[in-house]
Amino acid sequence: MRTLSKVRWSDLRPDDFLLRQGECPIVYLPIGLCEPHGHAAALGLDTLKADYYCEEAAERFGGIVAPTQGYHIHECGFHKPWLDEVVGGTNPLLAGMPPQVVCYHFLYQLRAFANAGFHAVIVVSGHAGGSQKDLRRVAQAFTGSTGIPVVVKTDPEWGGYEGDHAGAYEISQLQAIHPEAVDLSLLGRMTEEDSGGRLALGLDAAEASPEKGMEINETIITAIGAMTEDLGGGTPIKEPVNYQQAEKIWSEVLSQGEWWSIGLK
Ligand SMILES: [Zn+2]
Repeated sequence: MRTLSKVRWSDLRPDDFLLRQGECPIVYLPIGLCEPHGHAAALGLDTLKADYYCEEAAERFGGIVAPTQGYHIHECGFHKPWLDEVVGGTNPLLAGMPPQVVCYHFLYQLRAFANAGFHAVIVVSGHAGGSQKDLRRVAQAFTGSTGIPVVVKTDPEWGGYEGDHAGAYEISQLQAIHPEAVDLSLLGRMTEEDSGGRLALGLDAAEASPEKGMEINETIITAIGAMTEDLGGGTPIKEPVNYQQAEKIWSEVLSQGEWWSIGLK
């Protein structure tokens, strides 16, 4: 037998959902993806931490956690040369998508939140690097049309840290959340035949520790809590957002021109 969460949209019966939502009409959307973080860490590091921050925030400050978005923008623009450099010819075991797919889907996620009765949205992306700006562009257009505030931040942006990729920062975060997802004895394991050889492992990963991770994680969760408080009751929509309105928002987003943070070449 496994225990269900008390803050997950998917795990709540309708009465319990409405009770929780009535107390705090804020929805948290965890976003991550599967991508290499060295041989020593689980591929879903970005997803696992986003889930953790959202669940902890909902438990401590109220609100409900939406179904996790486990795919993210990758393999194009600046991501492509990065992958070539740090992973080379090895299969990156990646759950990446182009920006127009992720952003269009994101718009309809926001629509679902508004129509389900939430008054504000907090998005925590465990994947950073620049693509969060694309999501913010969609969020801004959605708020403009519906009045519902949407905050999108990557985990280092919440905590005021610089962040890294599979270095002391990220490996520490995961060690504190899921120690079983990290095996430091694999830090020296190299992927042979290709460039990089480290499967995207950060150079300072050996300096990771659960204590460091705990400190980082608590800073992030506290900041999300402060945002939950700032948003207060949020702003409810007057009537449901239909497909036509959502498509109008999407046209408006597209009309802003070549705005994808990564370029589409
Ligand atoms: Zn990561």
